[in-house]
Amino acid sequence: MDDWRLRGDDDNLKNAVLYEIRFPQFWERAYREKNGFYQLVQNDAENYVKRTGKCAELLEGEKIQHFWHEHCFFCWEKATTDAEAVFYCTEDMNVWICAKCFNDFKDKFHWVVKSVDEWHPENARRCP
Ligand SMILES: [Zn+2]
Repeated sequence: MDDWRLRGDDDNLKNAVLYEIRFPQFWERAYREKNGFYQLVQNDAENYVKRTGKCAELLEGEKIQHFWHEHCFFCWEKATTDAEAVFYCTEDMNVWICAKCFNDFKDKFHWVVKSVDEWHPENARRCP
C-alpha cells in the first residue's frame, strides 16, 4: 500500500492495543473525576507555565484543557479536548490516531480496540 501517511516508522503499532476516546466527553469526565488524564494535562500545563512563564491564568479551572492537544500519528489531524471527535490512542497515550486513519489502516495493523473504561490512567506517560 502506497500512502503518504505511511512513513515506515510505524512498526511498533502492529497489533497494538488502542483505546477509543470520544471528545469532548472524555475530557468532561476527566475534569469531573480529576483522573489520570486530567493529571497528565495538569502536569503538562504546570511544566509549560514553569518553563515559559506564560499562560498562568489558564491553570485555573476548566481552562487548563487548552494546554493539551495531540496530532494524529499518520495524518497530523489535531485532537483537542473540546472538539467533537473520536480518536484512538495507545495505552501510554503517546500515539493518537484519528478515526479516518484508524479505519483506513486497521486491517493492515491488526489493532485491538478497547473501551476507554478499560484504560488505566496509571499507564499514561509520566512527565519528567
Ligand atoms: Zn489521521
